[in-house]
Amino acid sequence: MIPFNKPFLTGNELEYIGKALSLGKTSGDGLFTKKCHDFFEKRFGFKKVLLTTSCTDALEMAAILIDIKPGDEVIVPSYTFVSTANAFALRGAEIVFADSYANNPNIDPAGIESLITSKTKAIVVVHYAGVACDMDKITAIAQKHGLYVVEDAAQAIDSYYNDRPLGSIGHLAAFSFHETKNVIAGEGGMLVINDERFTGRAEIIWEKGTNRGSFFRGEVNKYEWVDIGSSFLPSDIIAAFLYAQLESLETIQTRRKALWGRYYEELKCLSDKNLLGLPALPAYATGNGHMFYVVTTDAAARTALLNKLRASGINAAFHHPSLHKSSFYAYKHDVPEFPNADHYTDCLLRLPLYYDLTAADQDIVINEIIDFYKQA
Ligand SMILES: *Cc1c(COP(=O)(O)O)cnc(C)c1O
Repeated sequence: MIPFNKPFLTGNELEYIGKALSLGKTSGDGLFTKKCHDFFEKRFGFKKVLLTTSCTDALEMAAILIDIKPGDEVIVPSYTFVSTANAFALRGAEIVFADSYANNPNIDPAGIESLITSKTKAIVVVHYAGVACDMDKITAIAQKHGLYVVEDAAQAIDSYYNDRPLGSIGHLAAFSFHETKNVIAGEGGMLVINDERFTGRAEIIWEKGTNRGSFFRGEVNKYEWVDIGSSFLPSDIIAAFLYAQLESLETIQTRRKALWGRYYEELKCLSDKNLLGLPALPAYATGNGHMFYVVTTDAAARTALLNKLRASGINAAFHHPSLHKSSFYAYKHDVPEFPNADHYTDCLLRLPLYYDLTAADQDIVINEIIDFYKQA
């Protein structure tokens, strides 16, 4: 069997977890949390980061920080994971969905402006498969209308918009270290704070609404409840796991990008003949080897291809059902027409891509797909 994903361990995880245990401080904001924070601030120039227990939590923090209230509207791509919308819905926002581009699952900025009303508060973008959204266009729309931009960069570690790291462009950004992402901690995430107005409050919300951070720095003389918040910070055991991964970021990325490149080169013959679509990298975007997908011409072709791969022991996977048609949303709203999001819902198929995928196994996947189109 060739699995869809296989979590990669660098080999140092247990040692660092052991170190965290031996230090006798396993709760959040310990030595390894600080090491992870330093890593991201140095490596990507993020102004301020806070590890969280998940990307979902980081998005929930973002919704609190931009003060989302019942009745506010938040624009979100329909083709995304539920957390992108849920984090804002939890605070009472009305989610206003937008469609993807025809040739790229990312949000199409051309559809955004007509969705903006006096109640709109934020645009949440998702860098799908680690490929940048058109951030200049989105930032310009947001500035024109006085809106916040939040980047759901769950899949986008070490990827760029022109020369700017993803996660550094919106007011706030959220990353994921779930075991399906490039760099993992089992479950884990991170909030990036690019707008300094949010830095102080972010730390308070992170620490259950207390001023614990300022108290320990000696800035206030009383440790107390000062705002809403939750337990968003992970234990230092999780941070130790993550730090072992971060030290190997270069190695992980090199390998994943090589696998991505090989899929692209070998399957290009099929896209040249318009038999199936491959990921499009706009000129402003880099890849980060997060995910390789193909897009079939219709849903029946995807089912047939998926079944053929499964019969050969290959686990390919489709991805998000577009959220505007989900039962939770459609129950309350008129369902808009988003042909592009629907197309990815029906036709996108993700191929196995993980650090330990061997060349021989990747050949099997490639050959099965080429064979499928020979027979068809
Ligand atoms: C994985 C993912 C999330 C959720 O990440 P968690 O860390 O599991 O909360 C959110 N948004 C997108 C786009 C994702 O791919």
